[in-house]
Amino acid sequence: MIPMRKIKAGRLIDGTGGMHTDIEILIDDGEIVEVAPDIQTDADVEVLDFSSYTVMPGLVDAHLHITSTGDPDLLKNLRQGVPYTTLVGAVQAKKTLQAGITAVRDAGAGFRTALDLKRAVGEGLHPGPRMMVSGQGLSITGGHGDPASGWPPEIEFRGRRTVDSPDEARKAAREELAAGADCIKLIATGGVMSMGTDHTTRGLTEEEMRAAIEEAENRKKRTLAHAQATKGIKNAIRAGIDSIEHGFWLDDEAVEMMVENDVYLVPTLAAVYHIIEAGTDEGVPPHAVEKAKIGRDAHISSFERALKAGVKIAMGTDAGTPFNRHGQNAFELELMVDAGMTPMQAVAASTSVGAELLDIQAGQIREGYLADMLVVDGDPLEDVTCLQDVESIKAVMVEGEVKVQRS
Ligand SMILES: [Zn+2]
Repeated sequence: MIPMRKIKAGRLIDGTGGMHTDIEILIDDGEIVEVAPDIQTDADVEVLDFSSYTVMPGLVDAHLHITSTGDPDLLKNLRQGVPYTTLVGAVQAKKTLQAGITAVRDAGAGFRTALDLKRAVGEGLHPGPRMMVSGQGLSITGGHGDPASGWPPEIEFRGRRTVDSPDEARKAAREELAAGADCIKLIATGGVMSMGTDHTTRGLTEEEMRAAIEEAENRKKRTLAHAQATKGIKNAIRAGIDSIEHGFWLDDEAVEMMVENDVYLVPTLAAVYHIIEAGTDEGVPPHAVEKAKIGRDAHISSFERALKAGVKIAMGTDAGTPFNRHGQNAFELELMVDAGMTPMQAVAASTSVGAELLDIQAGQIREGYLADMLVVDGDPLEDVTCLQDVESIKAVMVEGEVKVQRS
């Protein structure tokens, strides 16, 4: 039986736009039961004094690839077998948690290994964040992620599978759900990293996506669409998708459709940033650099348009793409602020909004929510970059248990 805990916070950011100073948080059985200036209780409580720090919800990264390393040579990554892939995922899950990220959505891992990793973390075998795992993503033959679109034939990544009709999409979604997927990823357009695809064209058709989405909804699971080109974005929204990932080319109509249908945007600005910043000099494949450059300006304008229109934006890094390293997830907040968010909005996108998208009762310091929290030496509302320095993350708690502590 874990004792009740009382946390003294010098500054509290609640995850939904509220900030308070000198406040206390009472935690019982992994859950926040009270937030007030001076909590009195007869019960035995363990007091954790963080009165010189900021306490906030743990970060939620709504889009990453836990078994990809950030090596620019994607194929090197994909050539590994199952044991190596799993070990890489385990190491990166630990790094992620140590950096203050308490929940993630894995958007595609080799060999479905993220499902086992989630189980290992859940059973306490290995440290890591709470995980929502998409199984193998669904793509069209020759589409983004299909080895036939340009990967050497020996590549056995199995992070994606191809479907070429609504019936095939339905069956594939059922199989992924049966394998334990928490969400279904649909490839609605071409992508940056794949060799033979054009990211300005669509992938799965609306009908194919609708069939897969129906199956996910039937199992009360969510769906996400890799979607860069406008046509694919709109196909996914009309098919009933829950979130648009990347969203390079969002026109006014797409933004309006997202607001109307309560569709989230997960921009993954860091992915594009690192590919362009490192470039071919650092070994990023030329096709990826070129496509990232083609999309960059539109991507930033789309982000601004979505933000202005009130689209729900959840933080997602796409960590695992070139030089986009696990443990450096908080860099995305800086990019979102650079693109027009206030620090408070960036924090909300990275906590409450992300948790809502992942459908977990976390991301807020509020009664009834899971006590997934981080303690940082600094004020993210003054300067969001303080979250990037792992040494500034003084403690990370999952369900009230201190998983990481730094003096
Ligand atoms: Zn991704």
